[in-house]
Amino acid sequence: MKLRVVVLGAGFGGLEVTTLLSEALGENLDLVLLDRNDTFYFGYSKLDVMFGRKPADAVKIPYQHIHKTGVRFAQAMITNIDPHAKRVTTDKGVFDADVLVVALGADYAPEKTPGLVEGGNEYYSFAGAMKLREVIPTFTHGHAIVGVCAPSFKCPPAPSEAALLLHDDLVARGVRENCTISLVMPFHIPIPPSPAISKALLDAFAERNITYVKDSVVSAVDAARHVVRLNDGRELPCDLLLAIPTHRVPDVVETSGLAVDGWIPVHKHTLETRFPNVYAIGDVTSVGTAKSGGFAETQGAVVAAEIIASYRGEPMPAGYDGTSGCYVEFGDGRVGRVDVDFFSGPQPTGTFRDATLEMVQEKKEFGTTRRARWFGLSG
Ligand SMILES: Cc1cc2nc3c(=O)[nH]c(=O)nc-3n(C[C@H](O)[C@H](O)[C@H](O)COP(=O)(O)OP(=O)(O)OC[C@H]3O[C@@H](n4cnc5c(N)ncnc54)[C@H](O)[C@@H]3O)c2cc1C
Repeated sequence: MKLRVVVLGAGFGGLEVTTLLSEALGENLDLVLLDRNDTFYFGYSKLDVMFGRKPADAVKIPYQHIHKTGVRFAQAMITNIDPHAKRVTTDKGVFDADVLVVALGADYAPEKTPGLVEGGNEYYSFAGAMKLREVIPTFTHGHAIVGVCAPSFKCPPAPSEAALLLHDDLVARGVRENCTISLVMPFHIPIPPSPAISKALLDAFAERNITYVKDSVVSAVDAARHVVRLNDGRELPCDLLLAIPTHRVPDVVETSGLAVDGWIPVHKHTLETRFPNVYAIGDVTSVGTAKSGGFAETQGAVVAAEIIASYRGEPMPAGYDGTSGCYVEFGDGRVGRVDVDFFSGPQPTGTFRDATLEMVQEKKEFGTTRRARWFGLSG
């Protein structure tokens, strides 16, 4: 009997679980991979797009490249998930499964920050990054703010990266001395689990005259008065806002009753939801790690190993250990890396690899290997 699996969402987590299941089960697999989009892009490629480092087409990877044994990709909007029946309804039909893997990521709610939709810019959506690609070159003087709007957000280094890359962009255009840059973050230090990378980032901000506004979020935007308001009532002057909008689960997760307190709860080590044979991985969960591609991918590998062991009647593998990491753009052409262990100790702990020019190549190889494994593409 073929194992029927439906993977909901073809992002970091969904692509990894799909790839590993196909490699292990081959013809014994009947897997449908669903996504509303026709292309994948790495989260970090939004930085490349917004700062004009790459054209949009260069970072998009069409799902039509997925040719894996036992796998069908379907571009479809998921409109209902029945976790009891393991039935997924979409605008292209209904899919029944023995096992569901929910990997639908996080959506955004910019409307939760008054004035942001009308008077600010966010760069976390692809459309937002594309818009900023046109807006940033017109900014030649005044106050720029990279600002987080709510404490739980994807890729904790991304706001620091945007501030450092904005500095480089303004220097390259010869207008840096006409501009200020502030970074509004909900944390005392940029990456709380790693004091070492946080110190390196704070040093980089100090060298570049970037102001780190700690323990704060942007709670409103008043474009007419050229200010943003912070959660403690302070106002900061602002002529260009690069916002990290409030995150939320996709609508279908909420309406299907999978979410509790905003996100899908899962068993910390098996990543099973409270519904048998329904797993959830990545940004859509409240597993307690960072919301980041590296963590979503590692969780996909753990779930694939469990599904394979269960299908073969083998002992269950070691569960999820709460570790992963990501590369961090430091500007000036350098990249560092932070790895974090969320589960071993009472507090998350991180290790930092110094930002170097060599690490740029390592980050590039990270993308190249995923393009090859997930899409069969070279280069
Ligand atoms: C600016 C920026 C920089 C980043 N940099 C990094 C980095 O350097 N390293 C790193 O590891 N992470 C980075 N990230 C974070 C990373 O992109 C995410 O954490 C990661 O993509 C999460 O993977 P996921 O599989 O959980 O969800 P996603 O990759 O978001 O995939 C979810 C998929 O579900 C689909 N979907 C949602 N709802 C529906 C529906 N109703 N019907 C059908 N399909 C649906 C979506 O289209 C999407 O393709 C960055 C993010 C941003 C915004």
